[in-house]
Amino acid sequence: MNQNMVTWLLKPSELTLKGDNRKSFEGVLKSNIQRLLSKIEAKVSVKFTAGRYYISAPEEKSNEIEDILSHLIGISGWAKTVTCEKTPQAVINAAAEEGRKIYANGARTFKIDARRTDKSFPLSSYELCCEGGNAVTNAVTDIKVDIHNPQDTIRIEIREKAFVYSGGKKGLYGLPVGTAGRGLLLLSGGIDSPVAAFFMATRGIIIDAIHFHAYPYTSIEAKEKVITLAKLTGKYCMGIHLYILNFTKVQMRIKERSPAEWTTVLLRMAMMEAAEKAAKKIKCKCLITGESLSQVASQTMENIACTQSRIKLPVFRPLIGISKEEIITKAKQIGTFETSILPFQDCCTLFTPKHPVLRGKVNEANELYEKLELDELIEESLQDYELVK
Ligand code: ATP
Ligand code: MG
Repeated sequence: MNQNMVTWLLKPSELTLKGDNRKSFEGVLKSNIQRLLSKIEAKVSVKFTAGRYYISAPEEKSNEIEDILSHLIGISGWAKTVTCEKTPQAVINAAAEEGRKIYANGARTFKIDARRTDKSFPLSSYELCCEGGNAVTNAVTDIKVDIHNPQDTIRIEIREKAFVYSGGKKGLYGLPVGTAGRGLLLLSGGIDSPVAAFFMATRGIIIDAIHFHAYPYTSIEAKEKVITLAKLTGKYCMGIHLYILNFTKVQMRIKERSPAEWTTVLLRMAMMEAAEKAAKKIKCKCLITGESLSQVASQTMENIACTQSRIKLPVFRPLIGISKEEIITKAKQIGTFETSILPFQDCCTLFTPKHPVLRGKVNEANELYEKLELDELIEESLQDYELVK
């Protein structure tokens, strides 16, 4: 039973944090890891000592564990390791074995990276590098040491156990989700808002999401798409609670009472106002949007000033200075892009005017907004929501 247990070694990121802060961050990360692992049906354990997390799980659960780790915010790297007896000979043998493995995977140059936190171990880090390197070149004839530009690296870590491994993976970095409070994401069906959620999650924010639809003007599929996006994004955010609100009446009111060129900005103002009210109810302390400066007419500096002019909560816009190309690259990386580009119409494109105002004035926007008398309609949409966890 014990033979096929494997250990993963995880290195937390942002260890520059100090004192109590650091302690509480380590605790949050540990409980996030435990929560994610609790879905695996097997005996899995997590331990934190001397700055590293150790996950122990049966080998056959490797794929599930690695899927979890590749979505885990708060670690700079992780590796599946071989633990061996803490003696020089056992460690050197394990290094040679690892050398055979990297050779079989195609590496022809390598280096050894050795670390020793247990100073009672008889070999120093330098000696481990030399002896480990020799063991590898003796075991595999056709491989050379290249310290500066190796094709692969074999790592030896002498901690409370001895770990030997290669092929460590980069983590997602950032701060563990849950260390920075709760924020409300305005989630549309587009490319940008899921990426915005990801970025804010990497700063430790727990993400709740709100989506406005205009059924029956928008389709059920459009709503399903947003639910899928919340699920995909939620893999990084320890899950997302998605509040879905019907904004049809609000939108119709805007269409009836405002000049066509103003409808988009006014709809944005209404969304912000409704989102702020919802945020207060569910104890979110900021709003998050996928806005990016000048990407579309409603996101010019002046129009952004209009859309935030009626609310007090801070609005975080992590994409404000990011180009569309970079946003798309990130969306592909996190796996939301393919869903985002499905062609279901979002409520914003419903009554899109041909010539929207590009540089709205805040005073004018608010005069028009007040004529809409939206309070009751917004209240109604807030009462009658659908919650998807
Ligand atoms: P996205 O790709 O995120 O849809 P976009 O480029 O289409 O962004 P807009 O449609 O102008 O830009 O939306 C700007 C931001 O407003 C979105 O990133 C999102 O945060 C919010 N938003 C837009 N539509 C909705 C909606 N129907 N429900 C909730 N939030 C929305
Ligand atoms: Mg959109």
